Amino acid sequence: MPHGGLEFPILQRFLCVVEARTVPANPLEATTEQKMKVEQQARDEQAQKPLPKGVVLGPDGKPCRTCTSSASWKAMMKGATTQPTKVATTPPAGATSSLQPPPDCPPDVEQLGRSSWTLLHAMTAAYPERPSLTQQMETKQFLGLFSKMYPCWVCADDFRTWMKDGNEPRVSNREDFGQWMCEAHNAVNVKLGKQSFDCKRWEERWRTGWKDGRCD
Ligand SMILES: Cc1cc2nc3c(=O)[nH]c(=O)nc-3n(C[C@H](O)[C@H](O)[C@H](O)COP(=O)(O)OP(=O)(O)OC[C@H]3O[C@@H](n4cnc5c(N)ncnc54)[C@H](O)[C@@H]3O)c2cc1C
Repeated sequence: MPHGGLEFPILQRFLCVVEARTVPANPLEATTEQKMKVEQQARDEQAQKPLPKGVVLGPDGKPCRTCTSSASWKAMMKGATTQPTKVATTPPAGATSSLQPPPDCPPDVEQLGRSSWTLLHAMTAAYPERPSLTQQMETKQFLGLFSKMYPCWVCADDFRTWMKDGNEPRVSNREDFGQWMCEAHNAVNVKLGKQSFDCKRWEERWRTGWKDGRCD
């Protein structure tokens, strides 16, 4: 019977209220509130899951690919859940080559590091022997910004701390800058348990090529 045909008008009003509250325009569509609830549940579930060893979280609380080795990233994507390390300040040097993804994938902490060191050392190699005051100032500005914007935030934090800790950039000439960069790189090598590089040879490695002529 249509509502309008009800004998008691009060019932007609009651039915209208019930309809308005229980039948959404499109019953298959979740409300914004419901969607938010489901999303929050998914986030909570993700947060409960232990992460594989070596996966570093970004400032947004999500796994940070450029702070993590590709091996750990792969383990996370496969759902491995051994030894959680939700808070890490030093990504492990970790497993490398055999687990490398194809070269056209986003960089992990190691690929990003190798590419960045190439840029930084190549900059020292191209640095003038007698830089102007403006060049020196701009180089310091670049390093200050680089150490803030480096996409592995734990690496960037440690780099800034190292510089503040009595290792301000030495940019008065090419030799000083090359030596300083070599020391900066060695500080990371030591932190990661790698061998230090002999800084007397920075120029052979990055500017002139080795004395044995293999780069000629
Ligand atoms: C500023 C910065 C901070 C970083 N911090 C971290 C970190 O906290 N944790 C982390 O896991 N990774 C970090 N990395 C990445 C890390 O340093 C390596 O790049 C990465 O582990 C890959 O290492 P690799 O053995 O392939 O060679 P790399 O260390 O990338 O070196 C590349 C090449 O440089 C030459 N080289 C090595 N040492 C020196 C030196 N002292 N002077 C001149 N030449 C040298 C060698 O020929 C070597 O093959 C950082 C990178 C940068 C640029």
